[in-house]
Amino acid sequence: MRKLAAGNWKMNGTRAGLAEVQALLAAQPDPACEMLLCPPATLIAAMAALTQGSRLQVGAQDCHARASGAHTGDLSAAMLADAGASHVILGHSERRADHGETDAQVRTKAEAAIATGLVAIVCLGETEAERDAGQTLEVIGAQLDGSVPEDATAANLVIAYEPVWAIGTGRTPTIAQIAEVHGFLRARLTARIGAEAAGVRLLYGGSVKPGNAAEIFAVPDVDGALVGGASLKAADFAPIVAAL
Ligand code: 13P
Repeated sequence: MRKLAAGNWKMNGTRAGLAEVQALLAAQPDPACEMLLCPPATLIAAMAALTQGSRLQVGAQDCHARASGAHTGDLSAAMLADAGASHVILGHSERRADHGETDAQVRTKAEAAIATGLVAIVCLGETEAERDAGQTLEVIGAQLDGSVPEDATAANLVIAYEPVWAIGTGRTPTIAQIAEVHGFLRARLTARIGAEAAGVRLLYGGSVKPGNAAEIFAVPDVDGALVGGASLKAADFAPIVAAL
């Protein structure tokens, strides 16, 4: 399976930030893994134009479940694809928290994304309180069951495990904790979508940096990373890509 280094710019970046994309392409013109950046929607078209013909793919951070209609401010999967996106992040914990997104909504968005030809990157993760209460596997198992379309395949689904308490905090789970969750996710995904699960990339996300990437990528069933802060600068993201 080809590993995936994905960057999530979140609500960061204007056209000036595209200089970092050029620097990344110069530093990693032919990476061993798949390479993806998900900028704010305002930059998708410009980034797609800049990366045309390169190994860097462009993705979005959310989509609406409907193809079109009276949904002010929203963007459909078809619009994102038209702008040049190949992937879309769905159900990020920040959208679950800021916009109250439920597992069922994430699933309908994933179905729309897949039907449009986008790869859906479905995010899961426990809060610190849930981990402290010993509920980690129960929580992410329920999120997986509720958020992942039953007919998803290795070609159109990626799962990102992002413990909420590790996002933007500089804290990461132990290697044993990451291994436990990723092994659990592989088994649970197999129960949901069958043999296709073996080929679905399971990304780890949460305070991935150049200094910890190689150690995390060596964990069984870690097939790449979803990187936030360290994806904004080529000097940080290029060594993470190189570690995969
Ligand atoms: P950080 O890498 O900034 O911790 O963010 C992780 C994340 O939320 C990626 O989607």
